[in-house]
Amino acid sequence: MTLNKHPDFLIIGAGIVGLTIALEIKKQFPDATISILEKEKQPGMHSSGRNSGVLHAGFYYTADSLKARLCRDGNFAWREYCEENNLTVNQCGKLVVARNAEELNGLDELARRAKVNKVELKMISAIESAEIEPQAYTYERALWSPTTATVNPKEVVDSIQNKIRSNGISIHNDTAYLRRSDGEVVSSNGSFSPGYLINAAGLYADKIAVDYGFSQNYKILPFKGLYLYANDNGLKLKTNVYPVPDLRNPFLGVHFTVTAENKTKIGPTAIPAFWRENYTGWDGFNMEELVDIIGIDASLFLANNFGFRKLAFKEMQKYSKKKLVKLAGTLLNNIKKDDFKKWGAPGIRAQLINTKTKQLEMDFKYEGDNRSFHVLNAVSPAFTCALPFSELLVSEIKKKLNG
Ligand SMILES: Cc1cc2nc3c(=O)[nH]c(=O)nc-3n(C[C@H](O)[C@H](O)[C@H](O)COP(=O)(O)OP(=O)(O)OC[C@H]3O[C@@H](n4cnc5c(N)ncnc54)[C@H](O)[C@@H]3O)c2cc1C
Repeated sequence: MTLNKHPDFLIIGAGIVGLTIALEIKKQFPDATISILEKEKQPGMHSSGRNSGVLHAGFYYTADSLKARLCRDGNFAWREYCEENNLTVNQCGKLVVARNAEELNGLDELARRAKVNKVELKMISAIESAEIEPQAYTYERALWSPTTATVNPKEVVDSIQNKIRSNGISIHNDTAYLRRSDGEVVSSNGSFSPGYLINAAGLYADKIAVDYGFSQNYKILPFKGLYLYANDNGLKLKTNVYPVPDLRNPFLGVHFTVTAENKTKIGPTAIPAFWRENYTGWDGFNMEELVDIIGIDASLFLANNFGFRKLAFKEMQKYSKKKLVKLAGTLLNNIKKDDFKKWGAPGIRAQLINTKTKQLEMDFKYEGDNRSFHVLNAVSPAFTCALPFSELLVSEIKKKLNG
């Protein structure tokens, strides 16, 4: 494919965020030329193709957050998109179960958030919970979310990719952004001088943003999500079963997901990773990242602002199958270690941290001006939110351009 070296918009990263931004630009700027640079051999090789595929309903987030509105709208938008495009959706819902008296307060808080965010969520008794999923362990009460669903994230990425190409937008795979030099974008496949640059590079978004004078107080800290699958012909849950989360951090706690294909899996964990693409073994090893990340982890460990010490200790234990099944097992009755033998492909969350306050950024974050725009914290549930999130981002870009 011939490269357009001067596209009106150049997007770095063909994850779900970069791809949906491209489609939205086409809607808001129909005559614009758009190119996407992707360092891998195909789109969706990182978070967007390695997530749980849960279309979250939107009840976890505080009303003042972008996540609250975008999640509710995104859940609806993807379900509609999947229906129109014949993609698999498992409309299996979700139970959030209390496991002890203390967790009942957490259920109440989630119910309050759902009400404010206008998300359908029902407080139910332990008996009603058992009717939905007989194996769930419920202490007195649970929450039932009927709009939570699961999709196959790779199938969704492929579908969006096809739409993009049929809209005349070019995706250049195997083309990595390397640096900015004399106002040009230097890539592994030559230089580009775009009208406007959009950085949707996931795990590397902070690094690229720095080249444009942004992300001054932020860095991405990777957290690894492991999955453990129930044996074929083994446990088959009817619905997703989640614990009451620790709302001080953005992770939802180890849970059971029912995939779009009706398989049951435990995960994902949120284990601090040692480098950005630290999926398995020494894959993607990067010494500079290791040193940097150990430094950030050490400072979070000392500050302990959001219970990082406890989180890190608890999460590291989840490398053990036995421990992971034991922890997840508090959500169900009668599960055994041998019911779960196969690890799935892990994913890594590109979680933004404020290096000044030593806090994890809980909401989506972006920065930009009339030349470039940087999506810095597209963490979960950015997959669910991608369609309305991209609409919002492109409107923000429009404002900057008209600025
Ligand atoms: C384990 C896990 C489970 C999750 N579960 C859910 C869930 O159930 N529901 C939900 O809504 N969300 C979930 N998420 C979150 C969701 O997957 C992400 O929020 C979303 O995929 C982010 O999309 P993205 O496009 O920003 O990032 P990515 O998918 O990571 O895309 C970024 C792209 O940029 C490319 N790139 C990076 N650097 C460069 C460079 N220098 N040059 C060119 N290209 C570059 C990468 O190769 C990549 O393709 C989960 C995430 C993880 C990790």
